[in-house]
Order: sequence, then structure tokens, then C-alpha cells
Amino acid sequence: MNREERFVKQITPKSEDFSKWYVEIIRKAELADYAPIKGMMVIRPYGYAIWENIQHLLDKRIKETGHSNAYFPLFIPESLLEKETEHLEGFAPEVAWVTQGGKEKLEERLAVRPTSEAIIGNMYAKWIKSWRDLPVLINQWANIVRWEKVTRPFLRTTEFLWQEGHTAHETLEEAEKETLLILSLYKEFVETELAIPVVSGSKTEKERFAGASETYAIEALMSDGKALQMGTSHNLGQQFSKVFNIRFEDRSQNLQYVWQTSWGVSTRLVGALIMSHGDDSGLQLPPRVAPVQIVIVPISIGNWKENVLPQAREIEAQLKREGLRVKMDDREEFTPGWKFSEWEMRGVPLRIEIGPRDIKENQAVAVRRDTREKESIGLEALAQRVPEILKNIQTSMLEAGLKFQLENTHEVTSYENFKSILKSERGFIKAYWCGNQSCEEKIKEETMATVRVVPLEQDKQKTREKCVCCGKDSEVRVYFARAY
Ligand SMILES: [Zn+2]
Repeated sequence: MNREERFVKQITPKSEDFSKWYVEIIRKAELADYAPIKGMMVIRPYGYAIWENIQHLLDKRIKETGHSNAYFPLFIPESLLEKETEHLEGFAPEVAWVTQGGKEKLEERLAVRPTSEAIIGNMYAKWIKSWRDLPVLINQWANIVRWEKVTRPFLRTTEFLWQEGHTAHETLEEAEKETLLILSLYKEFVETELAIPVVSGSKTEKERFAGASETYAIEALMSDGKALQMGTSHNLGQQFSKVFNIRFEDRSQNLQYVWQTSWGVSTRLVGALIMSHGDDSGLQLPPRVAPVQIVIVPISIGNWKENVLPQAREIEAQLKREGLRVKMDDREEFTPGWKFSEWEMRGVPLRIEIGPRDIKENQAVAVRRDTREKESIGLEALAQRVPEILKNIQTSMLEAGLKFQLENTHEVTSYENFKSILKSERGFIKAYWCGNQSCEEKIKEETMATVRVVPLEQDKQKTREKCVCCGKDSEVRVYFARAY
């Protein structure tokens, strides 16, 4: 066995043990490492660069829709957090508390933010006086702490990074419009930039955010057939404004409580990239978020440093001029084969090989990470052809995801069928549900599947449909799945 084979073989095949494969990819691609604190991770530079690309692309959309960024404190006084009881009850088991500052015991405990509704609500009560102050459209990029019992890098860690939007509006309609705007913004962002297709819709009452009157979510199917919640958008109604006394004088000079929303996505999206696109050779990154979009590997034969390297450097400079993220791998201690497998592990979308023979023919060879297709390209055409190939990779990764989602979405009418699918193949199950929590709970208990989303657009059926669990009349078809 040669060295490059060994590099790849150190990974457990995905089909053999998905969770083991997942953590091994994170380690081998140097995305993150375990911290010396239980449940916490260190995001390494390569993993953080993916997050920065996600941030950049999403932040642009958040600002284009009229929002501004701000920053609120990490600590939330207990008295503020406990104002909204439902909210506190929802988060209480996961809150980390600060009880001492220096040598002094604090008079009031401080929560390390599990989310920022309470502290932001407190400030909005000061800032909002009149309808002229509305809407308030603020987003925060921050870290969050939730004391989780079972953790997994990027998917569930005690501390994670996210953005949280918090808006206040004059009317319920405006708040609902904002909630749905963000839901569609998230969907477009994840599908366009991460090449991961999602389903979207509302959450059931049982799965709703603590304190929200309506929660919407986008969910994607990971390649093991389990669903992952990728982002949520909440219509908070007046629940928080009543508790935090956020009032404004309306257009007819009456005092009213504002209508609020909150919404977020987190570093969990990095986990989604791994689980959606990765394979037995490692990570596979969509070009739009890949820290390195193209790696150039000069073939080290003979006096390659004189014959090949200058041309390889010229290609590097040319592609950089096109605004592409390019890496030149001219390390001498590794063979080209070793380098190929290492960059495949790191999920670089496109590799360019150039050797003495290519120089003679005035060309280079481009190899796609997703399909492994090879293409010889004349040197003069590279700067034009490479961006096209990257665009094709981005599109075909989304197409592959859509195909996978379609093949793994089962329309089911019998509960027996429902159970057997979850046992054998998983995936999304589209089935009618009567809307009763008793059926939702029974299904969860017996199959471990939950209602992931209730799609906003229901296909209007003329015929009467039956709940997959109890058989009662049902008009609503929902997505069930086992989820992370
Ligand atoms: Zn039912």
C-alpha cells in the first residue's frame, strides 16, 4: 500500500459507520478539534474559513433586506431571563450561570446567553417610543452557550456561533411578513451557496421555539437519511413585548405593544455541508463557500522546478486575477498522488495538474472533485474556462442533492408502511396528519420520527385524506423524519 492510499483508508467508509465517518472527516480535513472542556470544540482555520464565507454571503443578504448589525452583552441577568416564563422554562435546563465575579459572589446570577430575546427586549423597551421608530431591524453575529448533554462537533456543541435577527414592527401582518421573508431568504441562501436543497414550512406547536407564536424552519435531508434543521424564523407575536413592556404610540396616538420576530442560523451549517456532500474520500465543498476553490499541483518529475513550476505560478497568478481562491501546492516532501488525496479530503472543488508533458502541449488538466471528470484545457483558455467549471460544479452539486431528496422522500398512507420505511431506508416521509399532538407523540415514541415541517403550500386535494396514525380526516400533509 502506498502512502496516499493509506491517507484515504484511515477514514471509516460512510456506509459502514456514518457518525464515525463524520468525526473522522472533521479531524482529517482539520475543520475542528475537541477542546479540553467537555462538549466544546475548537474551530480550526480551515473550518473557520468556511464559516467566514457563510457569514459573508449571508450577511450581504441580511443587509440587502434592510437589516443592520449590532452587538448585545453576553450575560443576561436572571431577573430578565425569568420574565418570560415559557421562554425560561424552554431554556432553563441548558443555561450556564455566572455566580461570581473575581472574588465577589454576585447578588444576582447572570446567564450566559442561550439566545438574546430577553436582553434585546429590555433595550428595545428603551429605544422604541413611537411608530416612527419602527420597524427595528437588527441582526447580531455572536456566540451562544447551551449546556448540552450529548454533543457532536458543529451539530450540537455547548458553545456555538450564529447570527440572530431581532425585529420589532407596528402590526402582526408586518411581523409575519418579516418572518416569512427571512424563511425564504434562508432557503435561497442555503440552496444557492451551500448547494443543499431544503424543505420549508411551519413547526408544530410541540416543536415550536419557547415563547414564539409561530416557528418556521428549513430542513434538509443528510446523506444518512436523517433530517437536519438548518435555520429557524420565529414570529414572536406580542409575547415578549408585553413582558418587556416594549410599547409605542401608534398613528392614532394610542399606546400599543410591538410585534416581534427572531431568526437564526448557526455553525451547524458547516456540519450540514459535511453530511450532505462528503464521501468516502472526504469532504466535498461547493465552490461558493470553499476556502480553496482550486488547488494547483505541479507534477514533480525531473527538473520540474525549472520546467513546470514557473508555468504553474503563472496559472496561479492568472486565476487569482479572476478573483478566485487558489492554492499552489509546491511542497517537495509529498508525491503528487499524496497531494491529490489530501486535497480531495479537504473537499477542494477543482484540481489543476500540470506536468512536463502538459507544458509541451501548452495545456493543463483540470479534475473535478464531485464527478472526478478530467478536462485538458489550453493555457490561454484557463482563465475563462475555470470559472465556468466552478459554476457547473456548484449547479451539479445542488442537482445531485435534489435528486437524493426526491429519491428519499416517500409518500405514505399506511402506518405499517411508515414504520417499515423508517426501519429500512429513512428519508422524508410525506404523510397526512390530523393535527393532534397525541398522534404526533405516538409516532415519535414508536418510530423516533417527528414532524419536521408543515409545508405552507398544501396541495389542495379534492378527496378526503386520513391521518397516517389514527385514520381521522386530515387536510394537512407534513414532512416526517428522524432528525439530528
Ligand atoms: Zn391522527
